[in-house]
Amino acid sequence: MPSTIPQEEISRVLMILKKKTKNFENPIVTEIGNKTSNQFHVLISCMLSLRTRDETTGKISAKLFEKANTPEEILGLGKDLEKIIRPVNYYKTKAKRIRETCKILVKKYNGKVPGTLEELLDLPGVGRKTANIVIVYGFNKMGIPVDTHVHRISNRLGWVNTKLPDKTEMELRKIVPKRHWMSLNDIFVMYGQNICRPVNPKCDLCPATKYCSYYKNTPSTSKNRLKPKLTIHP
Ligand code: SF4
Repeated sequence: MPSTIPQEEISRVLMILKKKTKNFENPIVTEIGNKTSNQFHVLISCMLSLRTRDETTGKISAKLFEKANTPEEILGLGKDLEKIIRPVNYYKTKAKRIRETCKILVKKYNGKVPGTLEELLDLPGVGRKTANIVIVYGFNKMGIPVDTHVHRISNRLGWVNTKLPDKTEMELRKIVPKRHWMSLNDIFVMYGQNICRPVNPKCDLCPATKYCSYYKNTPSTSKNRLKPKLTIHP
């Protein structure tokens, strides 16, 4: 069923949460995108970041790009790639996918990262979340990256009623005014890491309670007892 939340309310909530998160630390891939505007760095650091802490992703991305800054240079690392990225979770699978992706970038795109969602989704290990992140933070183009925080908070607020992040993205594209698309991920990731956490959301610190379905429909005694769903959203 399509969402009945008015666009004005969505804008209002996003402005409230933006204000609340203004002193929080940016997610690491956003930080890399902001600092470098390098699409290749955004793509690779996003691939490294899946199920890995931001701090580790930041350190390992910096170490990797010091040694290899282009798809050709990453392919030239050989087995050293695994050694460098070892601290990130699932490093063997990630090394394999990064190598496969670099081969395609060299062969098909002359060493560059392609700039459309469709082309990005054809790369190994690149799902809608990663592809949208590259579009937004690498190319500065319109997209809505939906990770576990965006998926969870959109459902709690009652903006969508979805089981899967890809479906959440499709629904958000219909209801969120376009001027908010590129900032939505940053706001919800920071809010989800600090306030609207998977377990024990800090509703007592939330300035958006009156707009939140979860808050309005959960008895006060069990407000902090939501169980998290652990999933990877590439
Ligand atoms: S009221 Fe609680 S569940 Fe709702 S958005 Fe705020 S922190 Fe999240």
